[in-house]
Amino acid sequence: MHIHQMTVGMLQVCCYIVSCEETKEAVIIDPGGEEDKILTHCLKNSLRVRYLIATHGHPDHVCGNASLRESTGGKIIMHADDAVFFWQPQTQEYFSILGLPESPKPDRLVKDGDTIEFGREQLRVIHTPGHTPGGICLYSEPHCFTGDTLFVDGVGRSDFPGGSTHELLQSIRTRLLTLPPETIVWPGHGYGGLKSTIGEEARANPFLQEGF
Ligand SMILES: [Zn+2]
Ligand SMILES: [Zn+2]
Repeated sequence: MHIHQMTVGMLQVCCYIVSCEETKEAVIIDPGGEEDKILTHCLKNSLRVRYLIATHGHPDHVCGNASLRESTGGKIIMHADDAVFFWQPQTQEYFSILGLPESPKPDRLVKDGDTIEFGREQLRVIHTPGHTPGGICLYSEPHCFTGDTLFVDGVGRSDFPGGSTHELLQSIRTRLLTLPPETIVWPGHGYGGLKSTIGEEARANPFLQEGF
């Protein structure tokens, strides 16, 4: 599995182009803008994009979906709960203030435990609500793409509509910190760093210390 990390868009989202080295099939996780840059990388490496995967429905993570679906033919994937939540009129109105391009409706809905296959690789969906109702992390040993659920030295905000601090911390405690400590954490933003491990976050992340 080859992982290419790039920081894109005005909110500096960490976008990942993840590919099968044997077949050149790929997925793009959180294409949050600068679609030209993302597309150039795919073309240069002769990648065939199967899916555009949203770790969650926030506009900064899905604003490249429309143009990249058009240019690559990749199908849009999102957790079913975020597909419902983000297409409610009041949610759309709340986030329209950002002025980012809207995502088309997802082509495929996923839930906890589903696998997303591309070439000889696959990612397992881990449902981690709290930042949004249908937030997901994507796991393929030893890698975990944690979206806005877990950052290096930080955790996602839970004060946006649909967020819950209790759920967020519970998701991290029961679904992420239970992964092997050597698991590599690839966050949705690089606020505290662009890469870490589960063991390091369990040890040093100030939001995840005793009794959290
Ligand atoms: Zn977010
Ligand atoms: Zn974000």
